[in-house]
Formats: sequence, C-alpha cells, structure tokens
Amino acid sequence: KVDLGETVTKEELGRSTWTFLHTLSAQFPKKPTKQQQRDAKELMAIISRLYPCQTCAEHFKEVLKTHPPKTGSGYELAEWMCQVHNIVNKSLGKPEFPCDQVDLRWGAFDCDGACSIHPQK
Ligand code: FAD
Repeated sequence: KVDLGETVTKEELGRSTWTFLHTLSAQFPKKPTKQQQRDAKELMAIISRLYPCQTCAEHFKEVLKTHPPKTGSGYELAEWMCQVHNIVNKSLGKPEFPCDQVDLRWGAFDCDGACSIHPQK
C-alpha cells in the first residue's frame, strides 16, 4: 500500500525548509568558491520567489533586502541564516534562537560520512 502521508501544512513546510537551509549552511565550506557563494545567494533569491506560501515568500523577499546573504564562509552563512530565521521568528511571536548555539543545533549531520558539499570545478 502506498504511504500517502499527511497533508502538508505551512508549519511542516517551514520546519523542513529551515532544516534544509540550516543543514546546508552548517555544511557550507569554510572557504567557498565564488561559484558556491553565487549559488547560495541565488538559492535564497529563488526561495524568495518560489516558496509555496505567498505571504512567507513576500516577507522573506523584504528580509533579504535589508539582510543580504553573507556567503564568505560557512560560519558567516550559518550565522546569517540564524539571524534571518530569528527575524521570521520575531514576526510570528516565536522566541529568538541564540545564534552562538547554531552549530550545536545543526552542526551534526548523519549522512554516512559523505556530508560535505562537493568541491566544484
Ligand atoms: P521553526 O521556526 O520551523 O524552526 C525549526 C527548528 O529550528 C526549531 O525547532 C529550532 O530548533 C530551530 N531554530 C529556531 N530558530 C532558529 C534560528 N534562528 N536559527 C537556527 N535554528 C533555529 N510562517 C508564517 O506563518 N509566516 C511567514 O511569513 C513565514 N515565513 C517563512 C519564511 C521562510 C523562508 C521559511 C523557511 C518559513 C517561513 N514560515 C512562515 C514558517 C515558520 O518560520 C516556521 O517554520 C513554522 O511556523 C513552524 O515553526 P516551528 O516553531 O515548528 O519551528
């Protein structure tokens, strides 16, 4: 029997997306290439255009205008991601997350030892 799962909610989509974004940031190279930096910026811009919750996407677009992505290193991207997630948290009345603990929350990733982002040519 096919597992049809549950209807996706805005909350579930949000949690999954944040999981993806924080995990990607935690795995982002210490010294990213120019291409990787461009890709990370483009990904955020694409999310702000295609995220399938219109109010969320519009809000995120505004957040990006005042807080453009910082992609100079994995540390910078993880810190920036935490800050923009906190802006969304605040707008929803959720508690602020302490960004000095972002690596404790998202740094460990179990993917059979092949977690890091591939070097690019
Ligand atoms: P989430 O906010 O989904 O967080 C998941 C987990 O991340 C938490 O349990 C915590 O362990 C960790 N965490 C929390 N804050 C941080 C942080 N700052 N840094 C690192 N880790 C953290 N919903 C709306 O209703 N309106 C919106 O406008 C909206 N905009 C969104 C924009 C984007 C780009 C995304 C990805 C989601 C948006 N959402 C929006 C969804 C919303 O942010 C939550 O995902 C959803 O409400 C579920 O919240 P949650 O309390 O389960 O935890």
